[in-house]
Amino acid sequence: MKKEQASLDGYMNRVYKLIMIIISGSCMIAGVAITALHYLGYARDCNETFLWLFNLMDLGFVGIGVYYIKTGFDRGGMVKSEKLKQGKYAAALIAVIQWNAITYLCPFRDFWAFLMFFIMGEALFFDIKLVRQTTIALVISIAISWVIKGDVLLPVQDGYFVANMTVRLIGILGMSVSMNVLTYFGGKFLVEELEKYAYRDSLTNLLTRKTMNGYLEIAYKMAQSYGKPFCLLMLDIDDFKAVNDTYGHECGDVVLKAVSGMVLSCIEEDDQAFRWGGEEILAIVHGSKEKATEMAELIRTRVSQQEFVFCSGEKAAVTVTIGVIAYDPKYDVEKLMEKVDKRLYEGKRSGKNQVVSH
Ligand code: GH3
Ligand code: MG
Ligand code: MG
Repeated sequence: MKKEQASLDGYMNRVYKLIMIIISGSCMIAGVAITALHYLGYARDCNETFLWLFNLMDLGFVGIGVYYIKTGFDRGGMVKSEKLKQGKYAAALIAVIQWNAITYLCPFRDFWAFLMFFIMGEALFFDIKLVRQTTIALVISIAISWVIKGDVLLPVQDGYFVANMTVRLIGILGMSVSMNVLTYFGGKFLVEELEKYAYRDSLTNLLTRKTMNGYLEIAYKMAQSYGKPFCLLMLDIDDFKAVNDTYGHECGDVVLKAVSGMVLSCIEEDDQAFRWGGEEILAIVHGSKEKATEMAELIRTRVSQQEFVFCSGEKAAVTVTIGVIAYDPKYDVEKLMEKVDKRLYEGKRSGKNQVVSH
């Protein structure tokens, strides 16, 4: 069954597939078109050995496109993040190689005007670094080709030379700038905004449970392979039902939001906090158990000292109970989760408003 897809994941899935199909398709078209032109006598100068090497290389590029389509998706039908990363850089590299091969195999005076199509594919990923690097590589390739094959690639040396050259330089600059501006603003304001909704809970601003497994896996691997310890903190607000019952659900939301804010302000930059359930929060904290326990104690004290003032003017105080567990190679992620949950409930059973770390 297909997993529920956030719009951003759905978009990336489609772009990835589309780009891989475009790579395969355009490499085939380029090969067939140039070969046909040559054997029909319209591109007689093109070197036959080079032409067949080009066709062979394009066949390889088609294979790469097919490979990324075949291996790129997980069982839920989502594109794997490492394949997405590799795939888009492979696409950019192929674009630059194709550009250079076509330039020298079948020189065409106005090939510079195709620049846009060669950057377009990378721009769809809204990855500004990738687009910037591709643009620079292509513009440098154009400049080099004008030096090497200036006789066929530069404008005809007549009275219009300077005017033609000005138009092409403006064209190249315009295409480069527009593709980069589009990627930058699209990435910054659309993708980041979408990401916020896809990966962050709108009430608490905590990461969603959906993103949790990925982060847990990374933390576990880092601990296993590089000895970087981490701890899990499982927090639950005490008697939260009573807050809702006494002050209403909206006031409950205010408390939940404030408690989440306190958790986010206590953890460090490379730690993560997730909305695990209704008013339960799970945090992945990097470092030793002592450090994590101290952090949990800080969260607990801050919450207990906070007075929540609601718009009705009423005031309330809440407490939290937190379970802490350190990474232990004896246990897998599921077992660690089970154990930290147990600690939380030991804390609940023995009076609440406390941190349980053993
Ligand atoms: P305990 O000390 O044992 O944790 O008692 P509790 O009342 O907090 O019990 P429990 O954790 O099981 O209850 C969770 C309650 O949190 C139930 C639900 O009404 C409330 N809740 C869950 N999500 C939200 C939310 O988004 N907003 C509000 N206002 N309440 C929520
Ligand atoms: Mg509770
Ligand atoms: Mg609960």
